[in-house]
Amino acid sequence: MDAKTKAILIAEGLADIDPGLLDNPKVSTAGPGAGISSFFFRSGGHRVRLEARRDPDARLKVRRVSPGGDEVTILCDGREIVRGTIEPTLLHCPEQAYITISERCIFNCAFCPVPKLAGRTKSHDEVLKMVADAYKTGNMHAISITSGIENSPEEEVARAVSIVKSLVRYNVPIGVSVYPTADSSLLLKEAGSLEIKYNVETMDRSIFKRACADMDLDFVLESLEDAARIFGRNRVYSNFIIGLGESDKTVKKGVQVLAELGVIPILRALVLHPLRPDLVDVCPGAARPSADRLLMLARFERKVLDDCGLNANLSKTMCLPCTGCDLVPHRDV
Ligand code: SF4
Repeated sequence: MDAKTKAILIAEGLADIDPGLLDNPKVSTAGPGAGISSFFFRSGGHRVRLEARRDPDARLKVRRVSPGGDEVTILCDGREIVRGTIEPTLLHCPEQAYITISERCIFNCAFCPVPKLAGRTKSHDEVLKMVADAYKTGNMHAISITSGIENSPEEEVARAVSIVKSLVRYNVPIGVSVYPTADSSLLLKEAGSLEIKYNVETMDRSIFKRACADMDLDFVLESLEDAARIFGRNRVYSNFIIGLGESDKTVKKGVQVLAELGVIPILRALVLHPLRPDLVDVCPGAARPSADRLLMLARFERKVLDDCGLNANLSKTMCLPCTGCDLVPHRDV
């Protein structure tokens, strides 16, 4: 799967697939499409995550190449564009125990389904049991922890710190993605996290103000700068959504700003989630980005990272090694 093909698959985002190809360990329901079933397709050392649909009108269709075989083909408008296999997930994604602690959030970012899903908060013991089960498969190469905000950012950080302290015994890299607090980087580093992610979501300040009204972009940026000092180069990341109505110029400037702080941006195609029909009122320009735009921005980011001496291929936890949702510099482009 070359970068152009992966860009087409990400831009399309969903595929018609026979549920028989998706027995349980192959299905993922968390991440940007929380609540939606998805699967991982692997081809030529590259991976993409697609929403699983039973939809004869979908442009992408996944079909078995031969009866009983593992190889599948993806057709776009009836024409084969790539062959590969469906890859099993471990916890949320392949090869990682990626766990969301609080599946609810007091913040209400306009693109995010989590506040609407209003799920529950897993107990410490429950998370430990999930990781223990994942470890037994022999296929757990990393542990990643994320969380919405049940009551306060401080409480989620404390939860994550306590869980990380209990998980260091597995001796695999641990990454954490939470909303930052004044001392979250220090606490999570001391607990044993190797990597950290604080999301800017967008670097367009006008869109941020409308879409992420409960967050403070300057505080997130200060926290990222602090994290780069504490965790070091190539260990600090930030999700940056593409498709909220921002210009390419704003994205490029934002990528440059983050990279100069020592932060690797994760350019994430907007998921128009059915639980967030209100997004278009908040961000009238919101739309899934095109394949060409995703490819152009990923190539731009690759160059900026190279210029800043950063390498996304060194990351060991969370989204950069997974690569399912994004065109990842140094791995895909
Ligand atoms: S790239 Fe990140 S959000 Fe997407 S499937 Fe992988 S771990 Fe989940």
